[in-house]
Amino acid sequence: MKNILWLTIIGMCVILNLVGCENGNKKEITELETQTSQISQESSLENKNDELIEIKEESYKYNENGKIIIVMYHKFAENEGKDEWTRSYDNFYNDLKYLYEHGYRSISLNDYINNNIKVPVGCTPIILTFDDGSKSQFNLIKDESGNFIANPKSAVGVMEKFYAEYPEFGLNGTFFINGTGYFQGEGTEKERLEYLINKGFEIGNHTNTHINFSKATPEQIQKEIGIVSNEVEELTGYKINSLALPFGISSKEYAEYIHTGEYEGKTYENKVILLVGASPATNPNNEKNNLLKLPRVRARGGNKEVECDLYWWLERLEKDQEQKYYRLH
Ligand SMILES: [Zn+2]
Repeated sequence: MKNILWLTIIGMCVILNLVGCENGNKKEITELETQTSQISQESSLENKNDELIEIKEESYKYNENGKIIIVMYHKFAENEGKDEWTRSYDNFYNDLKYLYEHGYRSISLNDYINNNIKVPVGCTPIILTFDDGSKSQFNLIKDESGNFIANPKSAVGVMEKFYAEYPEFGLNGTFFINGTGYFQGEGTEKERLEYLINKGFEIGNHTNTHINFSKATPEQIQKEIGIVSNEVEELTGYKINSLALPFGISSKEYAEYIHTGEYEGKTYENKVILLVGASPATNPNNEKNNLLKLPRVRARGGNKEVECDLYWWLERLEKDQEQKYYRLH
């Protein structure tokens, strides 16, 4: 009887490994994997020998207390400079590679909002966000046939290249734009937005003029959010449902208008409101999770370690199983 149990455990561990993160296949968490976890957990209580401990280490447990990093990028440039808000295109590619090789898989902000996170067992979800709608994040150029493509010298161009090489990483990102012009370059604003939306990227609100909400009246707040929200919807039909606070500053008295409001007869609802700093977000299943105050982690810039930036956090989370989305038993 014991032998049959063993064969079952080993067999299931093989399956677990095949769908696991190292293999990179995008599979949903299945009941089988949950059962495998339970079986190896139960039998480890009964049998304490070396072989069993080894198998036990192969299995992961979903962790409601695990953390999810929402990375915040700003500008990009050819070379890494001193500016800690700017990332070189090459180092952005290296960031993606580092994340991929360390078991991270990108998800969209809407996957997080809807609690619809699907990463292979053992992998950790990560969300990429981009503030201010700069040309270095995304701009269109024409290829030889005259079709629009993302400039390889833009964050979107880098992500598309990376996705072609490592499709398991996913192609996700949310661009928080201002209404006073976004991305620049070739094509109309409609064409630029539609390119992103058609590729599966998301558009978020960063207010019309990058306003400081702490000094704004309810009318100003609704106008600042409504202008962007209405324009994107009129141009593309896309309904924005997320907002990144400019300067990371909210309004003490009128925060409800940042969440929902109305401008020129059209309503908006920001289901998530993102802060600027400075820690990983919780698993959306965690009871402490607050979608209206989601923290983010700043990307590294200038090749210098800064406290609480992306690599600073990655290093710490790597060492702490309690903070992992899937932790080892
Ligand atoms: Zn900003």
